[in-house]
Amino acid sequence: MEFSWSKEDKEVRARAQEFTEKALFPYELHIEETDTPDPKVEAGIVQALNDYALNAANQPVEYGGQAMSVVQQCILWEEAGKATNALWGRVWMPPICLQAGTPEQIEKYLVPSCSGAILSAFCTSEPDAGSDAGALKTWAVADGDDYVINGEKSFASNAEFADFMLLTTFIDGDPSKATIFLVDKDTPGVKARCLPHFSARTGWGHPELDILDLRVPASHILGEIGQGFELTKDWFVEARLGCAGRSVGAAIRGTELALAFACERRQFGSRIVDFQGIEFMLADMATDIMAAKSMLYRLAAEIDAGLDRKSAHARASAVKLFTTEMAFRVLDKAQQIFGGRGLMRENPVERLVRDVRFERVWEGTSEIQKVVIAGQLKKRGLANYVN
Ligand SMILES: Cc1cc2nc3c(=O)[nH]c(=O)nc-3n(C[C@H](O)[C@H](O)[C@H](O)COP(=O)(O)OP(=O)(O)OC[C@H]3O[C@@H](n4cnc5c(N)ncnc54)[C@H](O)[C@@H]3O)c2cc1C
Repeated sequence: MEFSWSKEDKEVRARAQEFTEKALFPYELHIEETDTPDPKVEAGIVQALNDYALNAANQPVEYGGQAMSVVQQCILWEEAGKATNALWGRVWMPPICLQAGTPEQIEKYLVPSCSGAILSAFCTSEPDAGSDAGALKTWAVADGDDYVINGEKSFASNAEFADFMLLTTFIDGDPSKATIFLVDKDTPGVKARCLPHFSARTGWGHPELDILDLRVPASHILGEIGQGFELTKDWFVEARLGCAGRSVGAAIRGTELALAFACERRQFGSRIVDFQGIEFMLADMATDIMAAKSMLYRLAAEIDAGLDRKSAHARASAVKLFTTEMAFRVLDKAQQIFGGRGLMRENPVERLVRDVRFERVWEGTSEIQKVVIAGQLKKRGLANYVN
């Protein structure tokens, strides 16, 4: 296949680079030191993202998005992924499934999400339903023109601050009726039970929620009853490429820092970069990044060129698996090259190690990506991965 960066791609990279360096890097240590970021900092980042025209890169212009190609979205994730403490999370791309909303829902939820005026939380995971989303116990039962929802949610990222939730439920407990409800903030019936502490700061929390007799009008269903999982399929491809882009960016920043340090640091009368043990680590890191970056942009370009949905889904699993595992390998080496200085939280490499650990778990763990890939191999053979 032919692939080269277009003039527009290069322009997006330059803008994304400048935004990351000017609007995200200065706040990395602020986030490291505070559980709740200063609202003025948050507001400044929102403003900067809009000023750089990098908001809602995945949404059409008519809704206030930037309508970027998939390649350009990956470029944006790669650049933002260089910022530690998950500051990339401020680069919002509203869930694409919101496009399936009614005109009223699009006006109320999607359009303001594109400008960053409101924030959403996507709540699917539950205590007994992690990788196995078919085991959801949050059920909705019809009552007149409303539905009454009961259950629990885990890892509800942003839920405490979000203006609305996309809440995945089974109607009448029936998995074939998986349905997403749009739930406004402060609707009675949603209570944060606890706010677990995670190994890296992610700015916003990931509370566990109790859902007790939550009453939501039927008009708040997104798409059709039973379309819940179908609506999230395209989102999964996008989300997995997001993990991949950020992983590539994190690995690049960590490697650049480790290389610069290795060229400067002297032990036993030599630069440590001249010790073969260090040289070989750096060589492996560069090779790993090159492989990961190649596969990411190849798939992104294929999707832009109209790759069918099934193949995109199958290949996105392989890209997510390789790139996220790659970032962890690479950053572990970068941390080792820094010696004791690699364990200081002031060092971006130390923070990147903690950040990329998450990428191997959310949006489908590495093991689940292997389940998807193996399933494809059994159904369709190797073609999807070699052609
Ligand atoms: C910080 C954070 C934020 C998150 N944000 C959100 C969010 O906003 N919304 C949301 O809905 N979810 C969110 N999640 C949840 C995330 O998607 C799940 O953690 C993930 O899907 C794994 O589920 P689990 O943690 O329950 O692990 P489990 O599914 O219990 O898995 C435990 C282990 O078993 C392995 N395993 C499971 N099934 C198989 C299998 N078939 N074959 C081989 N191995 C298997 C897994 O790979 C893993 O190693 C978030 C998670 C984290 C950590």
